[in-house]
Amino acid sequence: MAKEELRRQVVIIGSGPAGLTAAIYAARANLSPMLIDAPADAEKQTTPGGQLMITTDVENYPGFALGIQGPDLMVEFRKQAERFGTEFLEDWITKVDLQERPFTLYTDDKIIKAETLIIASGASAKWLGIPGEAKTPHGFGGNGVSACATCDGPLPAFRNKRLVVVGGGDTAMEEATFLTRYASRVFVVHRREKLRASKIMQDKAFRNEKIGFIWNTEVEEILGTQEHGVTGVSLRNVIDGEQITLDCEGVFIAIGHKPNTDLFKDQLEMDAVGYIKTSGHSTATKIPGVFACGDVQDSFYRQAVTAAGTGCMSAIDAERFLDHLPIVLPTGEEVTIEDEHIPPDRRVIIMPSGEVVPNEPEEVRSPESRVRSLGSD
Ligand code: NAP
Repeated sequence: MAKEELRRQVVIIGSGPAGLTAAIYAARANLSPMLIDAPADAEKQTTPGGQLMITTDVENYPGFALGIQGPDLMVEFRKQAERFGTEFLEDWITKVDLQERPFTLYTDDKIIKAETLIIASGASAKWLGIPGEAKTPHGFGGNGVSACATCDGPLPAFRNKRLVVVGGGDTAMEEATFLTRYASRVFVVHRREKLRASKIMQDKAFRNEKIGFIWNTEVEEILGTQEHGVTGVSLRNVIDGEQITLDCEGVFIAIGHKPNTDLFKDQLEMDAVGYIKTSGHSTATKIPGVFACGDVQDSFYRQAVTAAGTGCMSAIDAERFLDHLPIVLPTGEEVTIEDEHIPPDRRVIIMPSGEVVPNEPEEVRSPESRVRSLGSD
């Protein structure tokens, strides 16, 4: 059976804060965006609505003085995007072709042609895959186990409690240091005897008296009851195999994130981990007309509010591009939808034919001379 072909001005992939904010802005700009999100799938770790769907209280999203539940916040985002006419498609994208515009997205039964593409497919926290880690009621996820200290650390459940942070990178050091504001004690459990974190982050953690380090050790199981949540972790020393139980009331897994960028491999520029590289001055990728926002291009801040902020930027960038205005690429060069290129010093415009024309403003006339010339017509 022939696939149905659809054409859209703006297609957004992902329905977390970045994707839905891009949709709100693009819809209000009359660009009739289509937002595609993957169906929920526990094995593939896809959750329409993004990582906030697996968070409980969100206390740091501005505008909610009393806090809001993550899933409730995403329902509001979605309703707002719907209100301005965003078209939603829940489907698996199997292939993307970014070689030429319109870009082509394939699903099992559709071919979608997009003049501009906003990638907001997010990142997923990595998990250990050990017993006790799964979401409640299968484990203690959301009931003492978290992958985000900034989101969950300040909650009452973790105040003045003994907490464990798993990992040895910058995130683990940052989360451990952050958690000492609330916890009575924080134990960093790391599988080697050397941290991967940068020196400055290590030093801060080493100097903090509330943080203790447990080296060469893996967490084998998170212990607890559904009534009380986490009560401890079962640890195994990887050198001598010794097993101990450490009492604690919370476990923060900080072993890194994986950006959801497999679909775009070999087509977009990415860092070593797979985060999409964007301009820095805009959300443009190296391909004119393809923009990336939210956690898929941000390994550093990773907050709902920063994702929403870059989602807004992406929609404005797409809008500018469709309006024939230049957008800044990661190289510092500007480019228009007509394929005119403006080098970083902005002194010339290189036309698609290769012709080079000066990029200087036309002679500015005084208001009087303009009025005179209008009058003489
Ligand atoms: P990361 O650098 O990849 O570190 C992950 C850590 O988790 C490593 O120590 C690794 O152990 C450990 N780990 C991975 N899988 C594990 C498993 N299955 N079991 C036990 N331990 C496991 O990730 P990250 O810390 O999230 O940092 C990601 C990037 O963001 C880095 O470039 C980092 O510099 C940056 N970042 C910067 C800041 C900052 O500067 N403020 C803050 C956060 C993140 P091994 O060491 O043995 O591999």
